[in-house]
Amino acid sequence: MKKHNFSAGPCVLPQEVLLKASEAVMDFNNSGLSLIEISHRSKDFVEVMDKARSLALELLDLEGKGYQALFLQGGASLQFLMAAYNLLEKKAGYLNTGTWSSKAIKEAKMFGEIIEVGSSKDENFNYIPKGYSVPDGLDYLHLTSNNTIFGTQIKKFPKTEAPLVCDMSSDIFSRQLDFSQFDLIYAGAQKNMGPAGATLVVVKEEILGKVTRQIPSMLDYQVHISKESMFNTPPVFAVYTSMLTLEWLKAKGGIAAIEEINDKKAQLVYSEIDLNPMFEGFAQKEDRSNMNATFNLVDEKLKESFDAMVKEAGINGINGHRSVGGYRASMYNALSLESVGVLVDVMSELERKA
Ligand SMILES: *Cc1c(COP(=O)(O)O)cnc(C)c1O
Repeated sequence: MKKHNFSAGPCVLPQEVLLKASEAVMDFNNSGLSLIEISHRSKDFVEVMDKARSLALELLDLEGKGYQALFLQGGASLQFLMAAYNLLEKKAGYLNTGTWSSKAIKEAKMFGEIIEVGSSKDENFNYIPKGYSVPDGLDYLHLTSNNTIFGTQIKKFPKTEAPLVCDMSSDIFSRQLDFSQFDLIYAGAQKNMGPAGATLVVVKEEILGKVTRQIPSMLDYQVHISKESMFNTPPVFAVYTSMLTLEWLKAKGGIAAIEEINDKKAQLVYSEIDLNPMFEGFAQKEDRSNMNATFNLVDEKLKESFDAMVKEAGINGINGHRSVGGYRASMYNALSLESVGVLVDVMSELERKA
């Protein structure tokens, strides 16, 4: 039986995407060859890369606005340093909203002065800092739109003169935003797009080429742009599968349509957390993530029976991250409302039994 997969990443992907991807591994476009045994320079694969790049821009409504989409390697973690390598000349601002922001800060410090404009570390990152001020003269301001581990999400982005850099690994393509307010967006594929191995980078070209340091070719956005994301052998399977997911999303009606479903899923799970006395939410209500809902049992002694019920219902991947404990239900685009319904039923069953 197919499980209800609430894993935080890698995570659930649409069934039809998995099917098409597995077919392409055996026989790609009726070529008699596997997707992963053909040249990445072949016409068939170049078309895949072009399609993936243009779909990303189309879905984000960034076509014709001076942006380039790239599929790189090294995960979002490489972007922590690559962003700084390419953009940080003197000083940059970072909003510290969790583990991933902290890691981004650590890497960026090797390239210049880092100003933490705000932090929610004092409360184990259960909220998004607000009302912080952004100093003048920053090379950029770095944000993490969704904090996968703590289950918080930025709902309102700051207006600032500084270019905005945003790690959107765990909520890209999940909600409508004015994406043109960002100058650099990056996201590891494995949370809303495809398998691990590809990282989407969307960059406004005009912000590049301003730092004085020399940049190694593999870390230089401009090199990857000039080579149309084919500077070296790209992760063909990850790019192809991401392209399939983006096609799936477009066919569903794009981000606007998926956002409606994501809102329903989040409402369903959070209303259960709030109404059911067995559970309490971790993140502050106004900052709750629509992608990762973090919650705890009020009475830890019920853990064993709740875990058994969860398993019995075919639910996978809701254990919280070790730095938060408790539970985390990740509800990425491909997770159905029905799966969330199954989880909520188990939660209310616990209340009935107790
Ligand atoms: C998972 C995650 C990362 C790390 O991604 P990798 O691709 O494993 O390097 C970074 N930022 C956020 C917000 C994430 O959720």
